[in-house]
Order: sequence, then C-alpha cells, then structure tokens
Amino acid sequence: MPNTVKDAILRGRKTVESVVEEGRKKVEDVVEGGLDTVETVVEAGLNTVDAVVVKGRRTVESAVSLGRRTVESAFLGRSTMQAAVLHGREDVRIEQVPIPKAAAGELIVHVGAALTCGTDLKVFRRGYHARMIVPPALFGHELAGTVFEAGEGVADFAPSDRVVALNSAPCGKCYFCLRGQENLCDDLLFNNGAYAEFIRIPERIVAMNTIRVPENVPLEHAALTEPLACAVHGFEDSEPRRGDLIAVIGGGPLGLMILHVAALAGYETIALVRHDGQAEAARQLGAAHVVQNSSIRKAIQETRALTPNDRGVDIAIEAVGVPEAWQEAMELVRKGGTVNFFGGCARNTHVTLDTNRIHYSDITLRATFHHTPALCRKALALIASGRFQASAFITGHARLYELNRVFEKLMNRSDESEIKTAIVP
Ligand SMILES: [Zn+2]
Ligand SMILES: [Zn+2]
Repeated sequence: MPNTVKDAILRGRKTVESVVEEGRKKVEDVVEGGLDTVETVVEAGLNTVDAVVVKGRRTVESAVSLGRRTVESAFLGRSTMQAAVLHGREDVRIEQVPIPKAAAGELIVHVGAALTCGTDLKVFRRGYHARMIVPPALFGHELAGTVFEAGEGVADFAPSDRVVALNSAPCGKCYFCLRGQENLCDDLLFNNGAYAEFIRIPERIVAMNTIRVPENVPLEHAALTEPLACAVHGFEDSEPRRGDLIAVIGGGPLGLMILHVAALAGYETIALVRHDGQAEAARQLGAAHVVQNSSIRKAIQETRALTPNDRGVDIAIEAVGVPEAWQEAMELVRKGGTVNFFGGCARNTHVTLDTNRIHYSDITLRATFHHTPALCRKALALIASGRFQASAFITGHARLYELNRVFEKLMNRSDESEIKTAIVP
C-alpha cells in the first residue's frame, strides 16, 4: 500500500485511540465521583466516542481515497477512458471503460487516429461480424498511435514509440502459415477497439504485426497500412504484366487504393465508379480513364470501347462486394485475361458464370482476401515513401463522441466525396 494511505490510516487510528482513551478516563473520573451519575456520564462518554469514531473513520476514508487517486495519477493520469462500444445493430455508444492493462507480451497503445472503414460500416449495419466481432464489444480496427505501456517481456517496443498495430495476426504454425499464405491462417486472431483513447494489442499482434512508424509519417497516414496491405495484395495477386490495362470496379476506399497502387506501379487504369466525388478522386489518384455509368451494361460497353477492337481489359478487379459486380468483372476481361473477385459478398450469395467463356477464353479467376505480415510492411513502406497520396484518402476528421453521426453520414452517403474519416479521441 502506498505510504500516503498507510500514514493516513495510522493517523486516523491514533486519533480514534486517543479519543477513546480520553472518554474512558472521563468515565472513570465520574465513576469515582459518584455512582448515581455513572449512567448518564457513560451515555455521554459513549456518544462522544461514537462521534469521534465516525469522524475518524471519515478522515481515514478520505485519506485512503486521496491516496489512491494520487497513486493512480502518478501511474496513469486516471483509470478510465472513453471508448466506443458496439451493442448491436446501429447501436454504438461512447462509454467510460477501464483503461486496459498490458499483460505479458502485450502493448497498450494510446490511439493517435482510428480510421473509418467499409468493414466497420457493415458491422455497424448488421450489428456483428462473423469472424471479427461479437457485441457488446469494443469497435474499430484501423489505427496508429504511441505505446503507452509495454507488458513484461516486450523487447521491441517501449513507451512513446510510434506504432501501427494491425487488426489481426496469423498463428505462424498452421499449414497455411507455413506455406506463406498467412492471410488464410486457420487461427487468424482479430483485434478491435480502435475507436477509443487506448487499445490493448494482444501478444501475437505485438510479435507479428506491430510496426514502428517512421518519424516523417503522420499517425493517421500510418493507420492506412491495413487497408493498403489488402489493396497491394489484390493488385499483386492479379499478377499484372508490363503494359497491362487494369480496370477496377468500385469507388470505395479499397477500389481507389487498388487503382492508386496500380497507377503508381506504372499501369494504365480504368476506374468504374458511381458518384461524381469518386470519379474526381479516381482521377486525382491516377486513373487514366473513368467510366461513370449506373447501367452495368453500358459501363461494360464503355470500358470495352477503351480497348483495341473492344477486346476487353487484361485485368479486371472487383472491389464492391456484390454478386452483380462480380459478374460485371467477368464481362470486362479479354481472352486470357484475369478477373480478381476482391470484394467480399454477403453470406449465402451466389453468382452464375458462363462456363464456356471461362474455358474457351481461358480466363483466370482469383479472389484475394486479407493480408500477410510481409504485405503490411510493404504497405507502410509505400506510405512512408511519400509517393502514395495518403491524405487523399482521409477526407474528414471527427472526435470520438461524434462517431454515431459519422456512421450515419456514411450510411446515407450524404457526403459523396467522403472516403475515410480519422477519428481522433
Ligand atoms: Zn478496414
Ligand atoms: Zn496459421
């Protein structure tokens, strides 16, 4: 127990003891003075003792509480923090919860910025995520911040280090991990809780997927590492060859990122988007052509018209996550081309594909999912290089208490130039 508390308890006890002693002496005096008055005097003495005991106890209690607060503020500043808690469908509340403590191997990171993401929006709408989050739960997964506390045995990081901690980490031991397909790990560990002042980073993520952020990179840019790692994965998995024309369907954050990554790598790109804001962003991020048509049929024609003899693009990457867009992607590629079904669709949805076209046109189908530790490092290096236009992806800033409003805005698409909002606790 801290000395302040001990001292105060001792002081309180001494006060009580001396008063009891004094009361007893008075009683004794009176007993000697005459038996008749004993009863009344005892009563009076007891009352005095009671009052003093009560007062003494209060002094001790307030000293204990003051002592505890002093100790806590010396270590932490305080014991609770604000955090977004998902309770169910469209029900996120900002609550006061205990600041987590680092167990062995863990980190507590003070969140510098947490970014909104399509996955979070899906979770907000549905109230859960089969693999990632079951309510009530802390919420949010794209973040960067500074180490606040390092648990026992953490050798690579110390308080005040700037880090990006990814939302997941593979086990490193299963069949898939050992084959370098860590994105498919049988035991992928997910972490949530980025929309908060502090977040606990589990041991495995500390060991495998926490990366130091270079000094020149703002934390909110570093927080783009996770989605960018997925985008780089989708691009590389499509195995582009020099001179390929790449079409990307979807003007959401990931569609725009894949497009930007392809453009930075020197490829000619076509962006297929819905809204004006997305078209503008696609151009800024390097799209050579933008096809903006709400009719899928017309969008396919327009895209093909950009290729010699309408033959179709070399690579079509779908980044919307609806079956119609998967089918659209099939219609965009040339003979011998590659389709990447990058966007994950809702459970129990299906697509019908033209088997003849797949076979006789020798079409390669891929469906890239998630990221690996190596891709995360590659993504952060790309952000740090300064070539990646990180600030173009962060179109707004909001405080934690505004989170509900931010998600409502995202749901209603009331601001169509919105890509990601940085939530700053
Ligand atoms: Zn995300
Ligand atoms: Zn594994």
